[in-house]
Amino acid sequence: MRAVMVNSMNAQVLREWGDALVYETVPVPAAGVGEAVVRVEACGVGLTVLNYMNGNQQWRAEWLPRIPGHELVGTVVEVGAGVATVRVGERVMAYFYLACGGCDYCRLAHEPLCRNLRGNVGVAADGGYAEFCALPAFNLLPVPDDIPPVEATAIPDAIATPLHVSRRAGLGPGDTVMVIGAGGGVGVHMTQMAVLFGARVVGVDVGEAKLAAARQAGAALAVDAGEPGAARAERVTAVVDLVGTPDTLSLGLEVLDRRGRLVVLTTFPGVTTPLAPRRLVHDEITVLGSRYASRWEVARAAELVAEGRIRPVVSAVTSLDRVGDLHTRLRARTLIGRGAVAF
Ligand SMILES: [Zn+2]
Repeated sequence: MRAVMVNSMNAQVLREWGDALVYETVPVPAAGVGEAVVRVEACGVGLTVLNYMNGNQQWRAEWLPRIPGHELVGTVVEVGAGVATVRVGERVMAYFYLACGGCDYCRLAHEPLCRNLRGNVGVAADGGYAEFCALPAFNLLPVPDDIPPVEATAIPDAIATPLHVSRRAGLGPGDTVMVIGAGGGVGVHMTQMAVLFGARVVGVDVGEAKLAAARQAGAALAVDAGEPGAARAERVTAVVDLVGTPDTLSLGLEVLDRRGRLVVLTTFPGVTTPLAPRRLVHDEITVLGSRYASRWEVARAAELVAEGRIRPVVSAVTSLDRVGDLHTRLRARTLIGRGAVAF
């Protein structure tokens, strides 16, 4: 079933690893077996997109050319053979991981740990920096009514990821949580989520604008990482490091109180941090990895937005041809919360 009336579309295409996207006219994709085509209404723009474009994950020749963008929201306009879970006209958002859906981890709703993971939307399959996008129906989850497209782009990664982190770390009313990178796209939502779980939040970021965003998201205290010693003076029961540099990792370990948990989710090749086993034992601290979110968590994240308990923070919206402007602001670390492309 096909409701697309055009054959070509505008897209930002990555032809080599790095930052240079080419704004082109390309064919509208068709839905293969098990797939659906989405008319994209908006697509989120965050550091994860830039990291993947720079080949942070892997540099595979067969993944180029590629249309990036994984936080896409739109309306289904075509379904391929064998698709029973989405229908034409349904509003959907994309699940980031191209998981198999059938292995033991997928069946446990641990899809990011899929044994047959094919890669990610916008990396191993074309994403939302285009007017249309074809994805496996498995990767398309319903968007609750009344959530506008731009706001909804924050749900499948920037809000679902903090929900997974909060559950992994078992955050609760007894916790004080340091969020490192609290003014960024995941950070402002991580701060809100930790507060929703009952924790007190110490937000760490650079510059007054990002600290103000952290406070607005509910941080009881906002500390400038550029102020020597200020963040290191804090003592907290949990740290969520959204930056992932040797500096932030060492900060996270240093400020952990006894029984504290350090949650790591932003990683880069070659980055390591020293950790003395004796510290693990003496203070009973825990270092936790947190990988994206399950489809179930993405759906719960959408409910939290629909109920008004989490507020999507998308501070800059542009047209597809101008997406490079948002990338520039991301690289300069001046973008508050998330950015988005709207169609
Ligand atoms: Zn699987």
